[in-house]
Amino acid sequence: MKGLAMLKIGEIGWIEKDKPKCGPSDAIIKPLAIAPCTSDVHTVWEGAIGQRHNMILGHEAVGIVNEVGREVKDFKPGDRVIVPAITPDWGSEAAQRGFPSHSGGALGGWKFSNFKDGVFGEYFHVNLADSNLALLPDKIPLEAAVMLPDMLSTGFMGAENAKIEIGFSVAVLGIGPVGLSSIAGAKLKGAGRIFGVGTRPKLIKIAKKYGATDIINYKKGNTSEQIMDATEGEGVDAVIVAGGGPDILIDALNIAKPGAKISNINYFGRGIGEGDIIPISRSGWGFGMAQKDIVTGLCPGGRLRMERLAQIVIHGRMDPSLMASHVFKGFDHLEKALLLMKDKPQDLIKPVVLL
Ligand code: NDP
Ligand code: ZN
Repeated sequence: MKGLAMLKIGEIGWIEKDKPKCGPSDAIIKPLAIAPCTSDVHTVWEGAIGQRHNMILGHEAVGIVNEVGREVKDFKPGDRVIVPAITPDWGSEAAQRGFPSHSGGALGGWKFSNFKDGVFGEYFHVNLADSNLALLPDKIPLEAAVMLPDMLSTGFMGAENAKIEIGFSVAVLGIGPVGLSSIAGAKLKGAGRIFGVGTRPKLIKIAKKYGATDIINYKKGNTSEQIMDATEGEGVDAVIVAGGGPDILIDALNIAKPGAKISNINYFGRGIGEGDIIPISRSGWGFGMAQKDIVTGLCPGGRLRMERLAQIVIHGRMDPSLMASHVFKGFDHLEKALLLMKDKPQDLIKPVVLL
């Protein structure tokens, strides 16, 4: 079978591999819709998680079950399924402690395009099918469904971890597809005023549709000064970091009220000067004493999460298809789609490839 792979840091290409083998509790899936992620860009072109050779990329897919192992009870060949980006080992110690995304070590639940071949192949392997697949309801179109495995799950986690209460003021730094999902999540959690920080007009339009009340252009002045001015020096009750460079936590800390959660979902591809260190602001952080908590998270995975996200879409709480800005038909367009994600043209939110 063929797949689009990371050949080494900085290089992608099509490769041929054997179809993956199905273990007793696993499934083999044939993708129906796939989407590249900014995380694939960090992984390939920034070498953010280290060297990988000939690893098939991609972790966002919905598909059709091709094969299941003998122990799989709830899925059979032909079922249409949502495949979470994160497929934890549910029996692990980390999962039992309540942190399934880190089963087997930090970020260990993230297997596709990290430790094993991802979903950009003609077939891909899913561990623990009964726990890591969810049936795809017919009512959800493919270009909406493929936003669930990562964009909605991660973006909503950003809002959940921010502990938003009804009427909170919230700032979402970054309005790419992850930040847009956080804006929608903040609205669902009952936020009052929602600042979205970004510049591209197409994304701003969707940010407003999803619930942003104020847009801040970080290129037209310092983000924290603009938000502090707009809130008469008060700052916001919660901050979600969904974009920006290695110094973005400085803005986040400056605008957070004492006691606020700063919910980071950004993948820091590199630190200042390409190193490992990212700065936080001493005064913005109240010299370490202002009770501004930086909380972090990797996209929640697993079956129940996907089933719940599907409920959000089925019942019209949010329409993720608005983020599918570039929809292609056919596997051969995948490379173009991934390069779009890398280059981020003005009108790009999220490319989707239907198969
Ligand atoms: P995009 O690149 O599409 O969007 C980034 C956004 O950040 C854009 O709106 C951009 O603005 C904005 N931005 C850039 N610089 C700044 C700045 N200095 N201050 C404020 N905003 C800024 O990214 P995605 O939405 O696809 O992904 C966001 C991040 O989430 C990535 O790092 C990705 O790897 C990560 N991620 C993390 C996951 C997790 O599990 N935690 C899962 C999935 C993704 P502009 O409008 O100008 O482009
Ligand atoms: Zn991703």
